[in-house]
Amino acid sequence: MTYLDDDLGMVTFSLICPECGVANPDDSLNCMVCDRDLTNIVLFLEDDSFDLELTNEHLIEYRKNFWGTDRTGKVNRYPLSEIRNIEYGSPVTRFKFDFNGERKVIPLRKENMEILKDVLPIVIKRNNI
Ligand SMILES: [Zn+2]
Repeated sequence: MTYLDDDLGMVTFSLICPECGVANPDDSLNCMVCDRDLTNIVLFLEDDSFDLELTNEHLIEYRKNFWGTDRTGKVNRYPLSEIRNIEYGSPVTRFKFDFNGERKVIPLRKENMEILKDVLPIVIKRNNI
């Protein structure tokens, strides 16, 4: 039994705003709280020590504190065009790549790694064409 009628039941709030963390309706163009543009988000993953956003051009890492409860305000932006030698570590799930002459190693939850592994190659391939 539900108190929602059919129309209301179809609205799902699964589009998480990378900026403020609020869930927006799926077809939102802008965040209803902070007004951030939501149209170019390909993927948003919440992990233990950071949130990870993937757009068509960037991989963006929003660092969180030691406990994973709040963001520190530190944000790392990696243009996809400058990321090289991507490696999806297994069985220890570490996402690795070269950026700016440095080897970056990002520990990811297994389920997030699986999603990233599926989606990232498609976005990169699309950019290169
Ligand atoms: Zn927002």
